[in-house]
Amino acid sequence: MRLDKFLANMGFGSRKEVKKLLKTGAVQINDTVIKDAKFHIEVDQDLVTVHGEEIEYKEFIYLMMNKPQGVISATEDSKDETVVDLLELEDAHFEPFPVGRLDKDTEGFVLLTNNGKLAHELLSPKKHVPKTYFARIDGNVTAEDVTKFKEGVTLDDGYLTKPGDLVILNSGPTSEIELTITEGKFHQVKRMFIAVGKKVTYLKRLSIGPLKLDPSLELGEYRELTEEEVDKLV
Ligand code: URA
Repeated sequence: MRLDKFLANMGFGSRKEVKKLLKTGAVQINDTVIKDAKFHIEVDQDLVTVHGEEIEYKEFIYLMMNKPQGVISATEDSKDETVVDLLELEDAHFEPFPVGRLDKDTEGFVLLTNNGKLAHELLSPKKHVPKTYFARIDGNVTAEDVTKFKEGVTLDDGYLTKPGDLVILNSGPTSEIELTITEGKFHQVKRMFIAVGKKVTYLKRLSIGPLKLDPSLELGEYRELTEEEVDKLV
């Protein structure tokens, strides 16, 4: 790969900006300063440093975001802010997109990646990837609801859901629960509660498969997955 392409892809600006950077002598390949934009590098062999810092080539990016309410799980929208609008990766070649959707008023864990194959696998109904949600419910969630969810509930369109694992955290006129489901029908959690005569008033996704939302991420914040986390997913 050409050196200027490598650096542009890794977020060091446009080809023009990369050329300027090269002129300053900040870039070394295997301890030799290289100023030639056309210089060819082997991405998995050569050691590239910029201002002494090693730059590892990555094809894919994986981000965990704590989505706030009011933001759409999409790459672009004519009206509303999207999860991709919240990213600050303009210079890099990565074009991550959200894996699956959360409603506009749902908070919590959104995974973004440019790895289409992984996204496809995580979304595949055949994979049954579990997702856990925290919800506040208008109404008293009961042990009977736990049983009903375990058996699957019939949604408004007649679809019988797969079993859901409902855990009651607090019950009363307003209840708090955690629900794990392995499919992702449109508004599924809200519709499962409607099926038992209750209303979700707050919804937050806590986990996707083996990954839990990092509690240190404030609403709207995101971070790259660690290598360990990526290994758990792929
Ligand atoms: N279920 C819902 O009802 N909404 C979401 O955003 C996610 C799951």
